Amino acid sequence: MVRPKTEEEIALLRENAIIVSKTLAEVGKAVAPGVTTKELNRVAETFIRDNGAIPSFLGFEGFPAAICTSVNDVVVHGFPSDYVLKEGDIVTADIGTLYKGYNGDSAYTFPVGEVSAATRKLMDVTKASLFKGIEAAVAGNRVGDIGYAVQSYVESFGFSIVRELEGHGIGKGMHEAPGVPNFGRQGHGPKLVDGMTICIEPMVNAGGRSVYLDRNGWAVHTSDRSNAAHYELTIVIRRGKAELLSTFDFIEKDPKINF
Ligand code: MG
Ligand code: MG
Repeated sequence: MVRPKTEEEIALLRENAIIVSKTLAEVGKAVAPGVTTKELNRVAETFIRDNGAIPSFLGFEGFPAAICTSVNDVVVHGFPSDYVLKEGDIVTADIGTLYKGYNGDSAYTFPVGEVSAATRKLMDVTKASLFKGIEAAVAGNRVGDIGYAVQSYVESFGFSIVRELEGHGIGKGMHEAPGVPNFGRQGHGPKLVDGMTICIEPMVNAGGRSVYLDRNGWAVHTSDRSNAAHYELTIVIRRGKAELLSTFDFIEKDPKINF
């Protein structure tokens, strides 16, 4: 059962989403060849706490770090580590915060230095597919319309949608109903109504859609070792349309960030 959020709750979720958005930009400023993913985690955790929030991923079902850092063939849930980023890598930061009892959750795939044209295409298509999904998130549509919009766009470029993981509602819970798959059929699934707050988060592989779980029980890798990209935003359906709560503007309007 989906309970639409009140205006007061939406305001809190928006404040939180802005903290997450700014944290992603802080991480973006730190991404460079020679930097470890552990360092990105440190930057994010410090910024989150300095802004009065809590990194909600830390300790969640035993997750060992404040953020997920997923490099190259890791789709999601990579552990920050001593891995040193190198020119041509891509790294996805997925960040969750808890603030005044509500959750924030967004993700962005950053290039490390210059990436290949093929990798750039994967990133561009994945991000654009997120906005295709957001366009479909209007009151009266159904969750399947979001998935259909994302999937049809991604597959038209020959890339694959990861199906084992999906977007979700968000509020007091990090993951609330409804699940928001990145594939689907138009007109199917739960109906979208005003006051719903959801995270849309396409995970896209350059190669096949098959993935496997790392021995560490968390990191999801592409089976064919192709690169994967992942972008996530939180939106609210308000006055019939999708409004962004989190934003990539802090990243994309900052000349110091390579995105
Ligand atoms: Mg996330
Ligand atoms: Mg999420």
